[in-house]
Amino acid sequence: MKAIAVTPLQANSVHLIEMNKPSIADFPDGRGVLVEVLRVGACGTDREINSGVYGVAPQGFDYLVLGHENFGRIAEVGENARELKVGDYVVATVRRPRGDSIYDTIGEQDFTTDTKYYERGISRLHGYMAEFYSENADFLVKIPSAIAEIAVLLEPLSIIEKGLKQAGDIQERLKIWHPKIAAVLGTGNVGLLTIMALRMRGYEVHGFGLDKREGYVNADLIEEIGATYDSTSETTIADSAKKYDEYDLIFECTGYSPIIFDAMQALNENGILILASVTGGNRKTDQVPSDLINQRFVLGNRAMVGTVNANREHFEMGVKDLALCEAMYAGWLAKMLTHKVEGLENFAKVFEILNNSAQYKAIKTYFEVAKI
Ligand code: BGC
Repeated sequence: MKAIAVTPLQANSVHLIEMNKPSIADFPDGRGVLVEVLRVGACGTDREINSGVYGVAPQGFDYLVLGHENFGRIAEVGENARELKVGDYVVATVRRPRGDSIYDTIGEQDFTTDTKYYERGISRLHGYMAEFYSENADFLVKIPSAIAEIAVLLEPLSIIEKGLKQAGDIQERLKIWHPKIAAVLGTGNVGLLTIMALRMRGYEVHGFGLDKREGYVNADLIEEIGATYDSTSETTIADSAKKYDEYDLIFECTGYSPIIFDAMQALNENGILILASVTGGNRKTDQVPSDLINQRFVLGNRAMVGTVNANREHFEMGVKDLALCEAMYAGWLAKMLTHKVEGLENFAKVFEILNNSAQYKAIKTYFEVAKI
C-alpha cells in the first residue's frame, strides 16, 4: 500500500513509499482492527517534522510514516473487538501507553512524564498518512455518520477539549465557578475550534489574531458563530480587557510565547489561562511587569495550565461538540476544511499549502485518501 513518510531530522525529506498492508493479526489478543483511511489532516507538527526539527522513526526503521489527524472506516474487526463493526467510521487517538511512567500504566498516557513518548505519525510509531492502518480497538473512537464530513477535525479539537477539561477540574477548587467571558489568542484552525468549543459551552468569546479584520476569512467565521475578532496589531490583550472585561478563561494557541505575559494581565480573579502552543524556538522576552503579574496571580487566585495530547475521553467530548455545532450552525465546520488534496501521491501539494498557508488562505489542509 501507499504511505507518506519522512526521514526524521532530515529537512524536506517527505516522500511516497510502498509498504506492507497492516493486518488485524498485528494485535494477537483479537482486539485488532483494520481501518481504511479516508482523510488525514496536515498541521504545524507535520510541517515541523518535515522541516527536520521534530519526529522519531519507530525502532528498526529509518523512516516515519507521517499523519496523526485521521478519519477512517473499519474494514476488518478482530474477534474480541465486538463493540465495533465493519463499515463504522472511526478516529484513532495519537499517543500510546508504551512508556514506563505511572501515567502510562494507568492508561493516562497523555500525562506521561517520560521524555520518550510514543505518538502515531510523530514519535516512534507510524502514522495515518497511508491507505490502511491497524490498531487496538481501545484507541478507536466511533464517529456518527452525521459528522463524517468534518470528523477529520476531531484530533486537533481533542487537545482543546483536554485543555477545557483540565480547566474545569482545576476550577472545582472554587466550588462555584460560573465563567462567562473567554478570550482565544490565535485564530488559525486550533483557535477557530477553540472558539467553537467555548461558544458550545455558552461563553461570550473574543478571538484575537495577527491579521487585520478586513478580508480575513477566519474573522468572518468567528463572527458567524457569535464571537468577536480583534487584531493584535491594534490592541493588546490586556487593553482588550478594558473594553470587554477581564476574562474568566483565556486559551492561548498563537505559537508566539511573549503573548502569554500580556494574557496573564487580562485574566479575571479566579480565572484560568490555558497554554497550548508548542514553542520549539528560543525566543526570549524582556519588559515583563513581573511584580504586577505575580501579585495579580497571588491576590486573585489565578491559575495557568498547559495542555498537550489527548486521551479517549477528550476525543469523545469532541464528538459531542462537533455534533452540537452542526446542529447549531450547520455547515460552519465544513468551511474550515478549505484545502482538500486528493490522493497520497499529491503530498507535495499538501506541504506546499502547509508551508504557505497565509498565501493560500488555508485553514485546514487535508488528504482525501479515499471517498467517504
Ligand atoms: C498532536 C498531539 C501531540 C503533540 C506533540 C500535536 O500536533 O496533536 O497529539 O501530543 O503534537 O507531539
